[in-house]
Amino acid sequence: MNAILQCLCSISPLVEYFLSGKYITALQNDCSEVATAFAYLMTDMWLGDSDCVSPEIFRSALGNLYPAFTKKTQQDAQEFLIYVLNELHEALKKYHYPRRRSHEKGPAQRCCRKWITTETSVITQLFEGQLNYSIVCLKCEKCTYKNEVFTVLSLPIPSEYECSLQDCLQCFFQQDTLTWNNQIHCSFCETKQETAVRAGISKAPKIIIFHLKRYGFLHFVGTYFRTAF
Ligand SMILES: [Zn+2]
Repeated sequence: MNAILQCLCSISPLVEYFLSGKYITALQNDCSEVATAFAYLMTDMWLGDSDCVSPEIFRSALGNLYPAFTKKTQQDAQEFLIYVLNELHEALKKYHYPRRRSHEKGPAQRCCRKWITTETSVITQLFEGQLNYSIVCLKCEKCTYKNEVFTVLSLPIPSEYECSLQDCLQCFFQQDTLTWNNQIHCSFCETKQETAVRAGISKAPKIIIFHLKRYGFLHFVGTYFRTAF
């Protein structure tokens, strides 16, 4: 928990956002305990008089929502990070309505507006990126594309021995062939086919979070197939 909080509380644009009080305006419609406790923790760390700071209040605010984090047992740091980012996003998000064109006036359009809003927060502005997958059917060679928003990029570790972050990135972005149970339905062949998939980043986040997967590469292929599609 401390490692994650120290990382988050060292990200300059996030520090600036909370210390400048911008979060108060965003919080107007949501009295989130987690976001308020996070802001106090950030303020204590940067502007407080003490040499050390205890995140106890923040932990208990998050623990009210996710009791697993109140236990003094080992928790998954990445899972903790995801919960914290989700809670901050939910509390600080703003709704954006697309501009209405002149011919779109009327009650029908008004009642549909809520379905076409987008939500952004300081969390999505800083950490959200987009992956683009190119998917080629190996039978008919038709190519399709899928986009996937990400906040944490989970990278495989390609070697049991020493390897660099660059090796992990290369492994993630190399082309994979999905066979057997991992075959993808091809809309042109109208059946499942062996497929070549390659991921690329179509929108880079301002701050990228890497999660290093400790288990094997083959397992990874299946996992990312399931999460991506
Ligand atoms: Zn096909």
